[in-house]
Amino acid sequence: MNKALKNSGQDRTKWITAVVADADGRIFDLDGYAAVGMAGSDLRMLSPEDTVNLPFGAELMYLPNRMPVLFNLARKKIETLRENPYEPGSPIYPVAAFNSPGYVISRVSAYQEQSNASHLPLFSYGAVGWHKNRFRSAVFQIDSEPRQDLRLMKRADIIAGVERMRKIMPENRLRRHLERCALEYGCPAGKNFFLRRYEAPLPTSRACNARCLGCISLQQDSGIACSQNRIDFTPDPEEIAQVALAHIERVRNSVVSFGQGCEGDPLLAAHVIQPAIEMIRAGTGRGTINMNTNGSMPDVLKRLFSSGLDSVRVSMNSVRPDCYAAYFRPVSYEFADVIRSIDAALEMGKFVSINYLNLPGFTDSPEEVSALTNFLETHRVSQIQWRNLNYDPLLYWKAMNQASQNGPPVGMHQAVEQVRRRFPEIMHGYFNPPREKWTSGPQHVKPFKK
Ligand code: SF4
Repeated sequence: MNKALKNSGQDRTKWITAVVADADGRIFDLDGYAAVGMAGSDLRMLSPEDTVNLPFGAELMYLPNRMPVLFNLARKKIETLRENPYEPGSPIYPVAAFNSPGYVISRVSAYQEQSNASHLPLFSYGAVGWHKNRFRSAVFQIDSEPRQDLRLMKRADIIAGVERMRKIMPENRLRRHLERCALEYGCPAGKNFFLRRYEAPLPTSRACNARCLGCISLQQDSGIACSQNRIDFTPDPEEIAQVALAHIERVRNSVVSFGQGCEGDPLLAAHVIQPAIEMIRAGTGRGTINMNTNGSMPDVLKRLFSSGLDSVRVSMNSVRPDCYAAYFRPVSYEFADVIRSIDAALEMGKFVSINYLNLPGFTDSPEEVSALTNFLETHRVSQIQWRNLNYDPLLYWKAMNQASQNGPPVGMHQAVEQVRRRFPEIMHGYFNPPREKWTSGPQHVKPFKK
């Protein structure tokens, strides 16, 4: 344990108080203990400096069948606690934060599993502590756009929007599906369609050619619950175009996106997406038509670009093929196909972002950071979207360490800053930007002309 850690107990700027939960889920601060965050096997005390006030909309969770790892200020050492030191016999549990969109986790809540621990649900588990009467979260903001700020998404306005759309397109099955997304699943993209804000979702695909460990719409034999059910029909091109045009016509700098959490991969539904894009572009030159995809089928993607697709976001947890395969578990493609899709998009002058699923302890390993910078040397994408991975951290580190060598973390903030310094033209964010906000990418990115 480093000297700084040993002497830091006294210095109030060096630590924040630990928070834990009791068996009923009541969360409280634990006097005499400082909060610790983990990144792989690296444990570090959280300080006021490397935390922020818990962002609005973030949720706190306690982790069952696990024990908190905290710093005992009196004994000046890191300890794993099974029970409340002030109430012997009363079990206590670690607490984690599921942070709001736009915030990158720099440290995971520190804990150890008990022998009966099962898989954690599909959330991200940020480290959290208590300081000056506030919860403090180990995150930094990467995107400040209020696209999914719940304070601006009032339920009454969503319901009014749902009723309006019911009148405008009563038979449209995709509109009906989005109602469920917005009202039942609480999907912010679904809500934004009815609120006439920013980006509208166009889920279409029932199938996927990957089997991601953390797939939120389909989990088979993993014992993990899905966050939402996969769409159970394929909308017609007319239904897709009607929803897209309704959004583009009513929203400035609008984005409409294929590839949502409630579907498989949209490239496998190109037979309806291509004619839908042509209908949208026949109806308007405005708006940005985007696709979130695993990028597995470069030729299909090229066809969709030729039909009018404007931008693409390709998901990956790593730019190292073995780590990619260990998470995405591709069925009928390889990482090389994903690279071919990115290169094809860049060659066609399209705006390309990568949906970089990140977790401290792996994404900020020296090996992954250098692999990313080498990747960007030859595949100069327009934007990196830093998205916290929603998956059990211990299981993920185990899978990634089986797939590759990963040294001590350099820190997520340092990793992002390293990329910024090396590639100042690349945008960093969380959301798909409309073309009006593209400040990067091939200078010859040109909007689709009818
Ligand atoms: S690419 Fe998407 S839909 Fe396919 S398995 Fe992965 S998360 Fe699920």
